[in-house]
Amino acid sequence: MSDCVFCKIIAGEIPSEKVYEDDEILMFHDINKSAPVHILCVPKIHIDSLNDLNLNHENIKYAARILEKIPEIAKSFGISGGYRVITNIGEDGGQSVKHLHFHVIGGRKLGYLG
Ligand code: 5GP
Ligand code: ZN
Repeated sequence: MSDCVFCKIIAGEIPSEKVYEDDEILMFHDINKSAPVHILCVPKIHIDSLNDLNLNHENIKYAARILEKIPEIAKSFGISGGYRVITNIGEDGGQSVKHLHFHVIGGRKLGYLG
């Protein structure tokens, strides 16, 4: 997707502070942190949102890979004791970048949903 900011980050056209990368996924610091640790986890292929995944799709593996990796990354940032994983979906869900991403947020006491 040529106009997708996360595709541009994946392609290296926009710089990012990378946390983890492999063939399938990329994790980098959010540019506008809402907590001391705020990492974005994205598949390296363009998928609009979680709405576009199902078990018969090969692309479910990207989400699985991200969810499998998150605890390891949380540990490396010292937040294993408690953190939050969020994926916003669509306009009403507050999704501003239409490329599937999981926010990993921690490093402070989090409120019920904030
Ligand atoms: P959403 O609102 O779609 O769930 O989250 C998008 C996130 O992407 C926001 O938290 C925003 O700060 C982050 N973001 C948007 N553009 C950039 C960028 O160019 N670089 C980085 N590192 N984060 C970005
Ligand atoms: Zn994209």
